Amino acid sequence: MDALRQRIPTACVLCGERTQGGGLCSFCVADWHYRYKHVRWRCQRCKVAQLSGVCRAQQLCQRCLVQPQAWHALAVAFDYVAPLDSLIWRFKNYHQLRLAPMLARMMQQAMWRDGWELPTAMVVTAIPSRRQALRRRGFNPAMELARYLARYLGLPLASDLLALTQPKADQAQKHRTQSQRWVHAQHAFVWRGAPPPETLLLVDDVLTTGSTLHSAACCALNHGVKQVYAVTLARVPWSML
Ligand SMILES: [Zn+2]
Ligand SMILES: [Zn+2]
Repeated sequence: MDALRQRIPTACVLCGERTQGGGLCSFCVADWHYRYKHVRWRCQRCKVAQLSGVCRAQQLCQRCLVQPQAWHALAVAFDYVAPLDSLIWRFKNYHQLRLAPMLARMMQQAMWRDGWELPTAMVVTAIPSRRQALRRRGFNPAMELARYLARYLGLPLASDLLALTQPKADQAQKHRTQSQRWVHAQHAFVWRGAPPPETLLLVDDVLTTGSTLHSAACCALNHGVKQVYAVTLARVPWSML
């Protein structure tokens, strides 16, 4: 069914050019990979793109050198800048859920781009939405992406491993400074009590500082998960903060 759908003529979701299967045209795909690769610096651990400040020897940014994140590996599909950022806006804020399969494919390709070899005993889960965001949108964007990604990877999806602590964490992260996010994210998650999988793949839509993913990964590791991988659709470059 998927193979058949891939051959149906459609317009590119980004530029409107003719393509097939409801995704990006070949030009937009090439442009996506070019933009990701051709940044001056990219930290190999948190995938931040910035103008300077990466340790040349280790290819790590200053933050990762001082305070390493808890995840084993992180893959990011693209930087949160134009034109691809419009896909996230449409998906999250204009409820274009039809974009979810294509966006999940982009995340899968980001994992291939980084040469990941996934362990067999891996379970996929999503960072839960805050209550207010869930009420406003009616869906958790990260879970929609995780659902398709798990299917493409042939891995089980667990929707209830992590929960957000309330009520302090109820204030949206976007209103906080970078350092405040790190402090507030320290205890933002609780484990739901399910038996821990050996390896966990955490899925989120946008990574800003990495504090949320770090905190979720810490929570999983503290409850018996051996290794945490993470994948996000977009990564905010530091120049935007
Ligand atoms: Zn296009
Ligand atoms: Zn880094």
